[in-house]
Amino acid sequence: MSLSIHLWSKWGLTMTNNRPKHFSSEQFPVQNHCIQIGDMLLTRLTQRVGSTPYFAYDRKLITGRIKSLRQCLPNKIKLHYAMKANPMPAVVQHIAGLVDGIDVASLGEIKVALDTVMLPSKMSFAGPGKNEHELSCAIAAGIVINIESELELERIVALAEHLAITPKVAVRINPDFELKSSGMRMGGGPKQFGIDAERAPIVLRRIIELGMIFEGLHIFSGSQNLKVEAIQDAHEKTLQLAVRLARESSIPIPSLNMGGGFGIPYFPGELPLNLAAVGENLQHLLNRLEPELLETQFVIELGRYIVAEAGVYVCQVLDKKGSRGQLFLVTDGGMHHHLAASGNFGQVIRKNYPVTVGNKVGIAETEVVSVVGPLCTLDLLADQMELPKAEVGDLIVVFQSGAYGLTASPMSFLSHPIPCEVLV
Ligand SMILES: *Cc1c(COP(=O)(O)O)cnc(C)c1O
Repeated sequence: MSLSIHLWSKWGLTMTNNRPKHFSSEQFPVQNHCIQIGDMLLTRLTQRVGSTPYFAYDRKLITGRIKSLRQCLPNKIKLHYAMKANPMPAVVQHIAGLVDGIDVASLGEIKVALDTVMLPSKMSFAGPGKNEHELSCAIAAGIVINIESELELERIVALAEHLAITPKVAVRINPDFELKSSGMRMGGGPKQFGIDAERAPIVLRRIIELGMIFEGLHIFSGSQNLKVEAIQDAHEKTLQLAVRLARESSIPIPSLNMGGGFGIPYFPGELPLNLAAVGENLQHLLNRLEPELLETQFVIELGRYIVAEAGVYVCQVLDKKGSRGQLFLVTDGGMHHHLAASGNFGQVIRKNYPVTVGNKVGIAETEVVSVVGPLCTLDLLADQMELPKAEVGDLIVVFQSGAYGLTASPMSFLSHPIPCEVLV
């Protein structure tokens, strides 16, 4: 097992015989061997919630993360929340008061976003395959629609005419470069996302001819990136592409959404993103903008980076059993709530998320165990990890669970009840 001391020590890891032991997360303090979430002991919070499993999100950690983004990114950059990372209404409500815009991807998300203080004109609606009902609602609400195809543009024209409303639109560009070392690549080759950069000038001219309100461009090139150089490279190429499109179309770009893709560390060996370096480079790029972009407003949109580290998934040990020399903790939680921790959401090789026994952090006795859930297949939360020695009733905590958790999981699989989510 090769482990990076850096990351594990970030989680308060102590090393014995080169094996990770008793780690807890730096963001969640420990008192009497029990982690605290939002200043509340995990055991007490579990009583308050009244049932396991559940997801808990720490309000102060979300606020702190947005504060450090504000400190590190240039003032000129607007910060948007891509709410598909965590669409819990209370979370979106909280974040809405702290960011400059919200990026939505469906009618369901639009409804949650419209209930917040955020102005609809600061919301953008991206994603391929928007249906007419969603498009009509977005037009009526005054939300900016990020056009993903030429057919979609014509559909918006027809709907807007019928509604007698001038729509606000931006164009999502499928860039001719890709974000390197990204967990998920979103640009470069043939893609269902956005309009190919080569076609964009024609589309931009059509938007102007049609008299739509042209808000700008959206260039998103990837997700879960921890490499500063790769992000810097994408930012530079994004600006170059925007300049080129402004020149080729002779149309000014009021706003440029430069994407985001900032990653967080999940596994041993991964280091937190150097946000200061990303910010400094952006400032440097903004200091030497081409004339075409001098009037442009810049946006960075982030989902995971804002919420992931503020959230935990909590489940309870229901059974403890040995089988042919291995120990298993069977819990009431699993992949139906947390597909990503089970290793089935965008991972090629399964690795353990940071997991601990949340009410026994730092106790002397440990054991190598596998933490499994109640489903029939693939239901693994931790594969042979050394954890504090746990018994039936103890609380298993999966860290880094604030993004792409519940709503990115097959909740209906095996028909268990939907777990609680709380913002503390
Ligand atoms: C998913 C998505 C995001 C958010 O990505 P994160 O990696 O969670 O920050 C941002 N923009 C677009 C267009 C997306 O599809």
